[in-house]
Amino acid sequence: MLRIHSLEVGPFAMNTIVAWCDETREAIWFDPGAEGDTILRWIKSNDLIVTRIVNTHGHCDHIADNGFAKAAFNVPLCIHPLDRPKLTNPVLNLSVYTGIEVVSPDADEELNEGDLLKCGNVEFKLFHVPGHSPGSLVFNADGLLIAGDTLFNESVGRTDFPDSSESDLHSAIRTKIYMLPDETKVYPGHGDPTTVGHEKRYNPYVRP
Ligand SMILES: [Zn+2]
Ligand SMILES: [Zn+2]
Repeated sequence: MLRIHSLEVGPFAMNTIVAWCDETREAIWFDPGAEGDTILRWIKSNDLIVTRIVNTHGHCDHIADNGFAKAAFNVPLCIHPLDRPKLTNPVLNLSVYTGIEVVSPDADEELNEGDLLKCGNVEFKLFHVPGHSPGSLVFNADGLLIAGDTLFNESVGRTDFPDSSESDLHSAIRTKIYMLPDETKVYPGHGDPTTVGHEKRYNPYVRP
């Protein structure tokens, strides 16, 4: 069974997520964005074996501690090909506008819609949900969804960046996320968890 530890970190209040299989204790660290040392201590104290570092997308608040995580675990860093250029480019990952330029290591593996991502005995299904950024991915397994900055609790990701698209985001949410069972628990990149059913009923931005 899949377990999730979501912790809000850094100046952008980003949720970094550790997901693990409670049978094998193999884990994936999603979005090492800040406070990597805190997460590293938590991972070690829970005897988890990190097998991959995965970015939901390439914005600086989600990738700033990729280098720290890679140095700690020396496992593949993975992202969708369309957001891969953001990793090493402070203009594209928007950090140039924050005053602290972020340069991540380049990716070791690219992830695409339809790929299965193993985490111990659990397999994540991947969906490409462009709009907030061109290479945004969401990850679905065991009735859970790791949603990055696509869908939030009664909100959605920003689409005012140069490579964003509001219409792409809304259609991706409708055709890929709202198709999941209502009880699917959604872990967003910012803010509190929610469910697909709650958002279908109450999200003011994207109606089913
Ligand atoms: Zn973002
Ligand atoms: Zn974010």
